[in-house]
Amino acid sequence: MRIDVITVFPEILEGPLGASLLGKAIEGGLVDVRIHDLREHAEPGDVHRSVDDAPYGGGPGMVLQVGPIVGAVEALGTDPGRVLVLSPAGRRLDQPFIRQLAADEHLILVCGRYEGVDERVLQVLGAEELSVGDYVLSGGELPALVVIEAVTRLLPGVIGKEESHEHDSFGAEGTLDHPQYTRPAEFRGLSVPEVLRSGNHAEIERWRRDAAVAKTHRNRPDLTSG
Ligand code: SAM
Repeated sequence: MRIDVITVFPEILEGPLGASLLGKAIEGGLVDVRIHDLREHAEPGDVHRSVDDAPYGGGPGMVLQVGPIVGAVEALGTDPGRVLVLSPAGRRLDQPFIRQLAADEHLILVCGRYEGVDERVLQVLGAEELSVGDYVLSGGELPALVVIEAVTRLLPGVIGKEESHEHDSFGAEGTLDHPQYTRPAEFRGLSVPEVLRSGNHAEIERWRRDAAVAKTHRNRPDLTSG
């Protein structure tokens, strides 16, 4: 899978893309992530490489212009793929949509800044707006990283057997993940449930299923049907 990211702050993405699971997936060629500086697509000859302007109709702040964003996407020279503009006003991201994205060959993520992006970007590029939650950040770079990491961990070969997403929250089981424990068996008077140390796999499975359901009712009653 290929993911292109268009941003005015490439440096925000560089660290996280080089570390841990994402870094390994990129290095191993399991996902091809390319970062593009929007300023490279400023009006030719503009020494300030400006890509934003004041909003029509007045008001505070600046808006990212349509020309540089369309130019950056067209300069990719590929089939445009699915273009997603990160925006708090977009469709709210969830795991089913991440699964859909992970089945695509090519994603283009446009990071907004300031007051956002000229609305015409959506029409010209046939783009969709995508939100990572009901709160407002200062830019689309962290949301883009959220999308990249959530998608990448679903790609074949990225997660080994030792860290399966079989029981993950929002998976096929319809519950949150069950509580997890590791050594020590006792910490400040709190013991790991005995059954998890019993070696009885059927009992362990049953305990985990029940504990996952109980946790879902407690933390996310909205996910339970009754
Ligand atoms: N005026 C915009 C609004 O209220 O919808 C907020 C703009 S925000 C300060 C600047 C940029 O940050 C947005 O264009 C978007 O790219 C990004 N952003 C902020 N919060 C986001 C969220 N929850 N999901 C996705 N992107 C977000």
